[in-house]
Amino acid sequence: MNKITLVDGKPSVPERPVIPFIEGDGVGAEITPAAQAVIDAAVEKSYGGKRKIEWKEVLAGEKAFRRTGSWLPEETMDAFREYLVGIKGPLTTPVGGGIRSLNVALRQELDLYVCLRPVRWYKGVVSPVKEPQKVNMHIFRENTEDIYAGIEWRQGTPEARKVLDFLRNEMGVKKIRFPETSSFGVKPVSVEGTERLVRAAIEYALERGLPSVTLVHKGNIMKFTEGGFKLWGYGLAEREFGDRTFTMMQYDRIRQEAGAESADRALEEAKQAGKLIVKDVIADAFLQNTLLIPEEYSVIATLNLNGDYISDQLAAMVGGIGIAPGANINYRTGHAIFEATHGTAPNIAGKNIVNPSSLLLSGVMMLDYLGWHEAAKAIEKAMEKTFADHAATIDLARFMDDAVSLSTTEFRDRLINNL
Ligand code: NAD
Repeated sequence: MNKITLVDGKPSVPERPVIPFIEGDGVGAEITPAAQAVIDAAVEKSYGGKRKIEWKEVLAGEKAFRRTGSWLPEETMDAFREYLVGIKGPLTTPVGGGIRSLNVALRQELDLYVCLRPVRWYKGVVSPVKEPQKVNMHIFRENTEDIYAGIEWRQGTPEARKVLDFLRNEMGVKKIRFPETSSFGVKPVSVEGTERLVRAAIEYALERGLPSVTLVHKGNIMKFTEGGFKLWGYGLAEREFGDRTFTMMQYDRIRQEAGAESADRALEEAKQAGKLIVKDVIADAFLQNTLLIPEEYSVIATLNLNGDYISDQLAAMVGGIGIAPGANINYRTGHAIFEATHGTAPNIAGKNIVNPSSLLLSGVMMLDYLGWHEAAKAIEKAMEKTFADHAATIDLARFMDDAVSLSTTEFRDRLINNL
């Protein structure tokens, strides 16, 4: 009844959806109720009681371990599987053998192949760049492949020896500089993995009328993995979205056949016609360009490791490293977990000073995902107003002029008042 389901590839949301949440360790006990209070108030205000989220707490992390002896009980996995959409606070990474990172476990179990990070600036928030308002990007980071897949062998082990022998004797590899003391890692990048990520990025851009999708890669050096990502990404754009996109591969073909002027004209016509421009850039040049011409970029599609660096740099550029939201999504099954991107902040836990914005903005992404755009917009506006008034928790307030420094609960109340 109150379950979100997937209908024709889109979440179908009842008026009172059950949404499982993990409170989170450390500051989780403070940010989760604060974020929920603001989300509930925004939903109430936007839909006058017609819609309401039925929060369902599920356990993970320290709280789960204390109560059940398991860090990630099976019921928690089952709830995320069953209810499709969930939200989570930060979790301690348990130290000691044999316990996987809980975040990685959730991502892998549900095959959440997109890590989505929207990055925008809020007026009033102090940034290290001159024109942070020009940064407005949506990063689609591939979440399941790449050197991040964790296929590695430590130097000096029999396994590393075996890999070395295989590479030398069967693959004819001669380029390993210090073979006897090397660790080895494998970087799988597939056609399927690339296509589902790039498809999600293009659909997202088209739905929102955004101007471009940029494939960010190191294909100049890693030709078959990162270079493959670029080629397969362009291929998919032309094959599945040919009538609504114009790719820079098309541009190059026209330039070769008919000259630069014709190619420029075709690009201009495509822009006039409102087509989505699909382009690519080498990762190092991209990082430089984000500082010089950030306005040239909108949706970014990239591999796992590049995406890790890019997410943090862009968040830092808008002064938002502590407030950046994120989500891990499988657009095919509809499974999505929205999350705070910071850790458990044990040094400030229990002091009522933590900033709940990262989790709250993840909640905004969640509302958008549900199609409850009015409530999402209301929270964003309330946040804009609060920061523009130079009111914030201490982590941001300490950098603002004439700042009003608020506790977590005061900040929550201020946001609710500003809805
Ligand atoms: P952290 O993000 O918890 O803290 C880094 C610094 O930022 C600290 O000084 C902290 O006080 C501050 N900070 C973080 N979030 C804040 C907020 N919302 N408001 C104000 N200040 C904030 O990173 P850490 O110390 O490296 O990690 C602590 C624990 O969190 C570890 O167990 C780690 O594994 C875990 N962790 C979990 C996640 C996750 O669940 N997604 C992510 C990162 C780290």
